[in-house]
Amino acid sequence: MRLIRSFDFEAAHKLEWHLGKCQRLHGHNYHFEVTIEGPLNANGVVMDFDDLKEIVKKTVIAKYDHQFLNDFLENPTAELLAQDIFEMLKEQNLPIYSIRLWETPQASVEILAGS
Ligand SMILES: [Zn+2]
Repeated sequence: MRLIRSFDFEAAHKLEWHLGKCQRLHGHNYHFEVTIEGPLNANGVVMDFDDLKEIVKKTVIAKYDHQFLNDFLENPTAELLAQDIFEMLKEQNLPIYSIRLWETPQASVEILAGS
């Protein structure tokens, strides 16, 4: 079964290669979904939603909220940011199935385990 929880953070970035307004310093209200996959445990859950929330807050949100993303990633595209979030949570031994990250309400990327 898959369990999905949503999170938000705000951050600034600029994309040097972009030939449009994203080249200039600006911010986004990032939204992302963490999907984990696994069997149900004795409590009838894949994982406690609160435990997932704590792990994501201590890792991803603590690192990126209200920060300048270029300080962490040379080229902070939504794709590379999603990849970084995926790796960060995998290091926490979460059985990650996918990360979907919205840069705007209309634009999102998704990274799947094994891709
Ligand atoms: Zn942008």
